[in-house]
Amino acid sequence: MADRPEIRAPGARANHATYARRHAHEREPQSPSRYDETAAHGVEPGPVPSLTIVILVVGSRGDVQPFIPIARRLAQDGHRVRLATHAVFREFVESHGIEFFPLAGDPRELMDYMVMTGGHLVPHHLGQLVEQVPRKREVMAEILASTWAACTESDPARPAASPYLANAVIANPPSLGHIHVAEALGVPLHIMFTMPWSPTGAFPHPFTHVTSAGHAGLRNRLSFEAFDWLTWLGLADLVNDFREQSLGLEPIHLRDHGASVLHELAVPHAYLWSPSLLAKPSDWGPHIDVTGFVFPDETRFQPSSALREFLAAGDPPVYVGFGSCTATDPIALTTTIFDGLERAGVRGLVSRGWAKLGIASAPKHVHLVDDVPHDWLFPRCTAVCHHGGAGTTAAGLRNGLPTMVVPFFGDQYFWGRIVADAGAGPEPVPIDALTAETLADGIAFTLQPEVRARAVALGEKVRAQPGAQQAVAAFYKRLPLAGMRCSLDTTHLARRSCHECRLSLCGLCDAVIHEDRARALHRRECLEYVAWNVTGSPSVAEWLEGTIEKTLGIDDPPEPRKPLRIRDEEHVSPSAVDDATRARILARFESAVQIRVSASPVEGGLS
Ligand SMILES: [Zn+2]
Ligand SMILES: [Zn+2]
Repeated sequence: MADRPEIRAPGARANHATYARRHAHEREPQSPSRYDETAAHGVEPGPVPSLTIVILVVGSRGDVQPFIPIARRLAQDGHRVRLATHAVFREFVESHGIEFFPLAGDPRELMDYMVMTGGHLVPHHLGQLVEQVPRKREVMAEILASTWAACTESDPARPAASPYLANAVIANPPSLGHIHVAEALGVPLHIMFTMPWSPTGAFPHPFTHVTSAGHAGLRNRLSFEAFDWLTWLGLADLVNDFREQSLGLEPIHLRDHGASVLHELAVPHAYLWSPSLLAKPSDWGPHIDVTGFVFPDETRFQPSSALREFLAAGDPPVYVGFGSCTATDPIALTTTIFDGLERAGVRGLVSRGWAKLGIASAPKHVHLVDDVPHDWLFPRCTAVCHHGGAGTTAAGLRNGLPTMVVPFFGDQYFWGRIVADAGAGPEPVPIDALTAETLADGIAFTLQPEVRARAVALGEKVRAQPGAQQAVAAFYKRLPLAGMRCSLDTTHLARRSCHECRLSLCGLCDAVIHEDRARALHRRECLEYVAWNVTGSPSVAEWLEGTIEKTLGIDDPPEPRKPLRIRDEEHVSPSAVDDATRARILARFESAVQIRVSASPVEGGLS
């Protein structure tokens, strides 16, 4: 079984095979930030040093959206934040004042693929298998490669921007590279996602349809494990090529739980939905948080005069839209929707979306819209009918709107089920079963007063759970801050440890302290904050080596080879430091030395 990550104490030596055995009790993150309920846990509070954070997101616009407020909040706290996602979202991301980096993959192509296969990574029909899988694997390899570039390279479209090197990673699971780049960099990783991805007995994996009532807990749990295994079988060779060739890491062997590495290593997870809609299962550990839905920051939107006139001309309409889902026959689907709205006797706002809904002249009871922000549009509607994407589901519920879900694939069935179970909408109607009649019946259901009352009550709770704030708090709470702070100023990020000084130092303090000729030759190492032991326990050879060195009294065995480590980029020239700063750092250094001398006279011999 793979070990949980080692969390380094300040000044701890870098990765060594026997470390995990000696310090098993130190593996949990030790020091939460000022955002944690620190007093309650008796842990020292303190600032989070300014970090360079990369957020890796693969998916649709709905997957990217929640990370905009999260990135903005992190940036407001003084961190440098980059949102790395598909190139088509560059303008969307940059329009919010957030740094961007392009990941490979075209979400529209992924979306077509998911609709075609019903959300399965491996298609069910032989023809699709032969035609689609090679292309899909090619894209996956490109995505993996781009996640490393996202952590280490300048934005190719902004060559003048300052160099980039991530010292913390936030990622959604489909970004694939997450744990591997975090391991290569030795930095913290926090998984954030809009749908459940951690095994539980409470409900099935959102991409599977487990319906049998018997042994539900076991079946549910197995559905997660089966999904992980199928994904891993399809990607293992690509992931290992990436680890070996791009990152210089050991490949993951079959016995190393490659399928479930995020769970085995207890990587922190933040799930971005409202616990009032779906509570955290009792079998999820303390490394998993359910934060609340993340809503977009308020958008300034200028409606067209036609839209304004339509809204003013009658009762609030029912919204119908399928977001980024693509339709096999847009005209037929359009006709079904128009007829269904007419049968239900309601006015409709129909979003064209990626399904390309609409015809040249819409009937009087319908108005077609393009890209209207949900937070502007939904408060003006009476009910919503959509595909059940997590973001759209959240937007509807936030506004207290009864919700009809028409799932196309993947987690959309799951959210449809959850909404129906909450009594805030009808049973979900899969897109294949959508007719004018089933649409009209579903809309009629949403118009019942008791359904509206339940949706309104749920909306109040959902609004009271601010997801972005909670997600950022969860991220800070799980950082191994004790090992990330400069020993001389806890607001600085430690970059190196000095063997002789026995201190972890930021670039500035390191430069000032070691400017002194007496200390200039001190051995200093780049710090790794987390040693993700993805490939499991140390090999027999490493273990033997460690044992022999211990027996021989060799205190300082050589580091394992990690050829592509590039953390030593930060070099501060002491001449650039002003006198007051230099004096302050040296004074702190002297008092750190003094404290150690008085605490431990034998070991206090700092030069
Ligand atoms: Zn030193
Ligand atoms: Zn410092």
